[in-house]
Amino acid sequence: MTPEPARASGAAAGNSPGPGIAAQAVPEPVEGSASEHGPATGPTAGSTPVERPRGTVDAADPSQYVRERSVDGRRDVSYPPAPEPLGIPVYDNHTHLEIEDGDTGLSLHEQLERALAVGVHGVVQAGGDVDSSRWSAWAARTQARVLAAVAIHPNEAPVYERAGELDAAIAVIDELAAEPRVRAIGETGLDFFRTDADGIPAQMRSFEAHIALAKKHGIAMQIHDRDAHDAVLETLERVGAPEKTVFHCFSGDADMARLAADRGYYLSFAGNVTFKNAQNLRDALAVTPLDRILVETDAPFLTPAPYRGRPNAPYLIPVTLRFLAAELGMDADELAAQIAANTLRVYGTFED
Ligand SMILES: [Zn+2]
Repeated sequence: MTPEPARASGAAAGNSPGPGIAAQAVPEPVEGSASEHGPATGPTAGSTPVERPRGTVDAADPSQYVRERSVDGRRDVSYPPAPEPLGIPVYDNHTHLEIEDGDTGLSLHEQLERALAVGVHGVVQAGGDVDSSRWSAWAARTQARVLAAVAIHPNEAPVYERAGELDAAIAVIDELAAEPRVRAIGETGLDFFRTDADGIPAQMRSFEAHIALAKKHGIAMQIHDRDAHDAVLETLERVGAPEKTVFHCFSGDADMARLAADRGYYLSFAGNVTFKNAQNLRDALAVTPLDRILVETDAPFLTPAPYRGRPNAPYLIPVTLRFLAAELGMDADELAAQIAANTLRVYGTFED
């Protein structure tokens, strides 16, 4: 999912969270000039892990957050405790580290260090608009444990279109996708929950353009599909899916999982698989071939039980992974090894 962009043009009006967060506080853009914020403490500032009070962000510095998520109305916004480390290196294949969350923001460096400490050796940082896609490419360029996905989110496509900027935005994505550590187009797709009928043509046009970019650059594609299963599947069939197509935060049922796996798509499970009301996701998991399963946080959203509502982060991947393993009746490290192999097959190596 992708929150509201913090574009200077002010053209973006709508929030565009993805699956599962309708009831949570919506993210807000980082506003204000550099003068309102304290000194930069980004990942390039040194090797000391940095925690910092919220709001000490210089939005003009690419090492800083692109936006922050509101803490209004959330009961507990502290980061959950670190889980037991996994014995096998694993990866978070979809996260949004450009979003500041929690009572104390975590720098990119701190996020990656906390992840490494529990066996999460890398992340795929996903974009949803021009700013966050540029940030994702920057993070991948400068951090060995980050690969990037870049895209205009389906809920942002109509916003850009209304501003007459969709083609220019997609051209930026095309440019970023040529970078060697940009390994996916994402997140793109269709969202009939957040976007009304007026916005659907722009969303469709954007989705098809993104599919073409994934094929042109020979990289993976991460799909955001909210209340649009049939249309997404139909579009992929009609125009031809990229060789490596991932349903980020898979939200279908067992029938859809079977169909997607039959077509060779990957299903990425997020923390919402642990939610009580998500039996459809557990049914889907049960029928998904092991070589098609991926795991993600979609951080800072979709924090797995028992930490629902608190900030999510890549270091919480072991919580979701252990839950998946228990559902499948597998040893957690055995599943971690399988998911790691799947992740590297889709996105390539993290080492240059
Ligand atoms: Zn996302």
